[in-house]
Amino acid sequence: MLTERQLAERVGAIPGMGRIAAALADAPPCYLVGGAVRDLLLGRLPADVDIAVEGDAEEAARLLAAELGGTVEPHRRFGTATIAPSAATGLPHEINLAGTRRETYQVPGALPEVEPAPLSEDLRRRDFTVNAMAVDLVARQPALHDPLGGCDDLAAGLIRVLHPRSFEDDPTRLLRAVRYAVRLGFALEPGTERLARAAVAAGAPATVSGGRVADELLDLLAEAEAPAGVALMRELGLDVALCPALAADADLVAGAQLAAGETGADPVLAALAALLCRRAEVGGAAGWVDRLEIGAAARDAVLRAAASAPELAARLRGPLAPSALRRLLDGEPAEALALALALGAPGEPVLDYLGRLRHVRLEIDGADLVAAGVEPSPALGRALDAVLERKLDGELGGRDAELAAALAAARGA
Ligand code: ATP
Repeated sequence: MLTERQLAERVGAIPGMGRIAAALADAPPCYLVGGAVRDLLLGRLPADVDIAVEGDAEEAARLLAAELGGTVEPHRRFGTATIAPSAATGLPHEINLAGTRRETYQVPGALPEVEPAPLSEDLRRRDFTVNAMAVDLVARQPALHDPLGGCDDLAAGLIRVLHPRSFEDDPTRLLRAVRYAVRLGFALEPGTERLARAAVAAGAPATVSGGRVADELLDLLAEAEAPAGVALMRELGLDVALCPALAADADLVAGAQLAAGETGADPVLAALAALLCRRAEVGGAAGWVDRLEIGAAARDAVLRAAASAPELAARLRGPLAPSALRRLLDGEPAEALALALALGAPGEPVLDYLGRLRHVRLEIDGADLVAAGVEPSPALGRALDAVLERKLDGELGGRDAELAAALAAARGA
């Protein structure tokens, strides 16, 4: 347990904290809350700063922006505001302010109704004890508010919900529990684990909108420890509860994460595709991926990768001429290549394709053939394609050879 002085030192060590506290001196009581407090107590520097205001958060955000610069983006429904100070200030890139509030869940899985309430109630609406602590921001000697035993659970390495209905109210907390457990190397407290299994068995994850699932699932897959998270998802039955077409395979996710670095794939999308590709019928998951609302390009890359990677992996294991390799991989998203590698495809042809073959171009084009008297027609494009294949296979060297081969192909067609 830290002394108040040690705590004050750690708060002061967050870049820009002195300026933030000074700017809020005349605001209603303000507290550092959530992950920032957890990370400070663990001796880690928090990435984001979340501030709870016992009063008007938007007004406090304006005071802060007037002092720090940056833009204020208010979210009126929840009485919150975000400030993004300009990079030059060296301040955290995001400072989130929220009025302290109570939340009521009318419909399980839906967003809650909110109304202003004191800090003590605000802490009680949170997900886990380790995230339900606050530190006074403006007080000369900041005190820790820990009414729910967050410090004890930090010391014991436990993720514990605050009440038995927590996962039913908001099943995204199942994914959050997994994320914090693997990131911090913590265990689910036994009662919390029982509640998690009961919520999964009752089908709670299906009550959440796809967009909210995506927010939490992609955050989990972005963790360095994502494979361990995926293993825990599977252990809890959370994968199939989210979508019956998911099969959480930790080794495959680890392989996809690793291969994403070699292929230029997005590691999170490659990991998501890895969750989908163990099922024979990827098509069954298309509707679920649609509902995640991750954007058309990301959706297409994930579904394509999940569907094509097993066959790519099989074909890459056999002998392939360079032209056949290029034909096989052209048009595949980088995530498909990453997943094929994760499924055991040999690295050498994939790296040869990425580093060399996909960049090979002819020195001639259609205009050269027309200039040589060939009538413009689709046959001309086919002739150029055939010549490119021969070039890839090392059969042609130089522009003249390309032109002669293309003219022969176009005229013979
Ligand atoms: P990270 O380090 O991953 O950003 P964080 O704790 O800052 O962790 P956020 O998602 O930014 O995570 O949430 C900030 C705080 O808001 C949490 O610490 C928690 O107290 C509260 N919170 C966020 N999501 C929920 C939720 N679904 N239910 C209850 N409380 C939540």
